[in-house]
Amino acid sequence: MNHQTRIPLSNGTSIPCLGFGTWKTPAEQAKQSVLHALEAGYRHIDTATAYHNEEAVGEAIAASGIARTEIFLTSKLWNPSQGYQSTLDAFARSLEWLRTDYLDLYLIHWPHDPKYFDDWKTMNVETWRAFEKLYRDGQIKAIGVSNFRPHHLRHLMEHCEVKPMVDQVEIHPGMPQDEILDFCKEHDMVVEGWSPLATGKIFAVPEMQDMARKYGKTVAQLCLRWSVQRGVIPLPKSVTPARIVENTQIFDFTLEPQDMETISHLTGCGWSGLDPDHLVY
Ligand code: NDP
Repeated sequence: MNHQTRIPLSNGTSIPCLGFGTWKTPAEQAKQSVLHALEAGYRHIDTATAYHNEEAVGEAIAASGIARTEIFLTSKLWNPSQGYQSTLDAFARSLEWLRTDYLDLYLIHWPHDPKYFDDWKTMNVETWRAFEKLYRDGQIKAIGVSNFRPHHLRHLMEHCEVKPMVDQVEIHPGMPQDEILDFCKEHDMVVEGWSPLATGKIFAVPEMQDMARKYGKTVAQLCLRWSVQRGVIPLPKSVTPARIVENTQIFDFTLEPQDMETISHLTGCGWSGLDPDHLVY
């Protein structure tokens, strides 16, 4: 297994088991960091309209010389664009910015933002109808959601024709999200973990430093290995070339069961505070 190894999705397509994150990467750095990632062998890039770097990601993919079909590209529909026609319009803009004519994966970014709409149930269903159309038209190879908890997923699944194939949620040491993992497993959905390094907070946790010495690996590598061993696809972000490479070197060791447990129950690396039921952006 390596970072290009693919995991099957429920619709017969597949997704590389490690992705490259781009949140908070300014547009002026995004092209270079995505190019570094592609050189390091990543074939799975995660962006979103809300990150304001889709154009730079598109430039990097075009400049890489790597065939588009070899790269798994994800973007996300931003909250104010929820709704049927506005989703179709937002998706068309994303394709243009990303310089491509299809996405491998498109996600509803958040299930419920009261700033833009009160009735999240109706909005998610309307948005999903547009996702299903784009999927059936072949413009998206797989469709999914982000930050959906089981109660959001249950409602969507009661009203959809095509089931979501992926849920991307916050997962890192100290935040294992067992309930979401169990739900997704039961419904044949793959889980991606955002902020797999707790946006950097993990590096100050002493237990992780001790464990890194034990395995002769870095704290970042332990976090990413913990995700992969749980069947979760981590999406580490970095703009630093050496770290981009380091974050791929996680396939030559195995965490022991008691260390997996310790990492799951760590305290001190926290939760981002972004609550999918009460988010206001
Ligand atoms: P991560 O948890 O990946 O942490 C990134 C931070 O860790 C950066 O400060 C980076 O620094 C640093 N870092 C990366 N690798 C190493 C290393 N090997 N050693 C030391 N430091 C390191 O952060 P994000 O919060 O960005 O999450 C990752 C991705 O998840 C996002 O980029 C995005 O794609 C996705 N995401 C999705 C969300 C959603 O709502 N769906 C929400 C949040 C994130 P530097 O860059 O300076 O090297």
